[in-house]
Amino acid sequence: MVKIFCVANQKGGVGKTTTTVNLAASLAQINQRVLLVDLDPQGNATMGSGINKSKLPATIYQVLLGLSDVNSVKQKSETGKYDVLPANRELAGAEVEMVELENRENRLRLALDRVKDDYDFILIDCPPALSMLTLNGLCSAHGVIIPMQCEYYALEGLSDLANTIKKVHKNLNSDLEIVGLLRVMFDPRMTLSQQVSDQLEQHFGEKVFKTVIPRNIRLAEAPSYGMPGVVFDPPSKGAQAYLAFAAEMVERVRQLEKA
Ligand code: ATP
Ligand code: MG
Repeated sequence: MVKIFCVANQKGGVGKTTTTVNLAASLAQINQRVLLVDLDPQGNATMGSGINKSKLPATIYQVLLGLSDVNSVKQKSETGKYDVLPANRELAGAEVEMVELENRENRLRLALDRVKDDYDFILIDCPPALSMLTLNGLCSAHGVIIPMQCEYYALEGLSDLANTIKKVHKNLNSDLEIVGLLRVMFDPRMTLSQQVSDQLEQHFGEKVFKTVIPRNIRLAEAPSYGMPGVVFDPPSKGAQAYLAFAAEMVERVRQLEKA
């Protein structure tokens, strides 16, 4: 059965897109059928998958408004070997236009329902806001992956996100849970990085993924080549960490299915 995960954190620039793209490519490398959903008008996950966001016949915008279906809009990431439901700035309009629609928080879920047998994983890259777009992501998913930078302000805002997830769980999507917190851009030379990382483990225990993603320049360079980091430079420390993270995710999914 397909597993659908949202990568969310309303803080900007914390590594959501880098995580979504590299997890998608890592899962594809272990023969999983993956659909990456770009739910951000910035279109970074689309570009990072090697798809030109300004040359698209249709995007997720048409899917959310019910003008197209997933199969006619999806693109193939040739570099990452997964499918992409692409986005560009057009999507910014959806936020306003959806207000008028019935069932507006469930538009994505209903669209994904029709392709769920074609994939093992659907990964949703959320925008940096607790908006109607993010709400559509949360209503579609079984779980949320929260990337966190190990810095002083990392925990700020986490309670807002956790409360939103709780509310969605209670009122809109009882499947939803936090799968885990992923420590990203970790710098072992910084004492603060280590301290915050330890604090996260103390507070959240099992909910913190064992894999830690280091700060690694190759991960930041890869998008400008239209490639996921794990394809651009497989032996690099960042790529190795994301491959390990994918293995940990597969294991966690197995445990969730058993429970
Ligand atoms: P936004 O909130 O704008 O959508 P985001 O949470 O999706 O941002 P990313 O775009 O993934 O964050 O990352 C922000 C920046 O940090 C990017 O320039 C990215 O290349 C860089 N980056 C992400 N992870 C790493 C890492 N592990 N090492 C080095 N650079 C990284
Ligand atoms: Mg992003």
